[in-house]
Amino acid sequence: MSADNLQVGIIGTGAIGGLHAHNLALRTNGANVAAVMDIDRERANAVAQACGARAVQDAAGLIADPEIDAILIASPDASHAELSLAAIAAGKPVLCEKPLATSLADAEHIVNAELAAGQCLVQVGFMRQVDPAHCDLQALLLSGQLGAPLRFRGTHFNPRRGDTIISIKDAIVNSLIHDMHSLRWLMGSEVQSAFVQWLPDRADMPHSARFALAHLTLDNGGLATLEWSGDSGYGYEVGVEIVGELGTAQTHSHSSPAIRRAGRLSQAVTPDWQDRFAEAYQIEVQDWVDSLRQGAPTGPSAWDGYMSLVIADACLRSVDSGLPEPTRAMDHPAFYA
Ligand code: NAD
Repeated sequence: MSADNLQVGIIGTGAIGGLHAHNLALRTNGANVAAVMDIDRERANAVAQACGARAVQDAAGLIADPEIDAILIASPDASHAELSLAAIAAGKPVLCEKPLATSLADAEHIVNAELAAGQCLVQVGFMRQVDPAHCDLQALLLSGQLGAPLRFRGTHFNPRRGDTIISIKDAIVNSLIHDMHSLRWLMGSEVQSAFVQWLPDRADMPHSARFALAHLTLDNGGLATLEWSGDSGYGYEVGVEIVGELGTAQTHSHSSPAIRRAGRLSQAVTPDWQDRFAEAYQIEVQDWVDSLRQGAPTGPSAWDGYMSLVIADACLRSVDSGLPEPTRAMDHPAFYA
């Protein structure tokens, strides 16, 4: 381990925090996990031991610790804004898991704090931006072979998680937020309006969600639909299809072989997000470490986190009104050019 290694402190050592800790400690050059914190002390201790890190009990102390260079936030959604603001106040770079915040107002505070600090410190965990299947589609779009993109179709199908009932609000702010970022990134356009329809997971809980569909209009005249399922019945699948002026293309979402056997054509579907995006999570933290060692983060910014919540906010208003709702965003600061 070199003295120049980035010393990372991780807050939240559950499913994704544990995965990031493992990737940073064992599969990333130029960094090590110096300290971890989780309100579940046993979990923090186990991850600390596996990574050769210290387990600490206080998030504010970890952020302030002069031996920690950078913070990774992987605690629940509701804690992201406060912890990101604390990292900005300490002048430390932070990789914050999505969503950047659970409200548009909190995301705006983070953007304003970064503007006041005059430094890009925040990166948001929209790791699809480094997923090879999504990158191949982006390269095709940038090559011009599809012509101008006209329509984005995102599919985000999850396996059911035990007895968990997901609300339409959580489906939008916690899950569809990924697809909202993907569409801005791949279509190169902001969203003008959003209209949401959904099927409840339970008839007696009208704001529970089994399946949701968001129809979006874009500033560049394009259209988008985002389809989400909380119970695909078959596994985990994320895909994008883009219709362009000259052609149509889809992400290749499966890396397993297509098998023709005994009169059937079959292909395995990944069971969960950990399998589907395993490579992207590794690339994400390596790129983050490399960019910080060279000066500043280059991945999805606080502005990207904010603009994804602008779309989510219009979707939430559409849930309440039953109508298409316009997006409402602050002016784009030149700082985030
Ligand atoms: P999880 O429940 O498995 O883990 C969360 C951990 O945070 C738990 O260990 C819990 O004890 C701990 N915790 C709770 N409150 C805390 C606090 N105030 N301070 C410190 N630790 C606290 O959840 P998860 O699936 O790992 O999700 C964590 C975050 O990562 C969520 O915001 C989620 O949206 C995001 N996430 C992103 C992706 C992605 O694809 N980028 C995938 C999964 C989860």
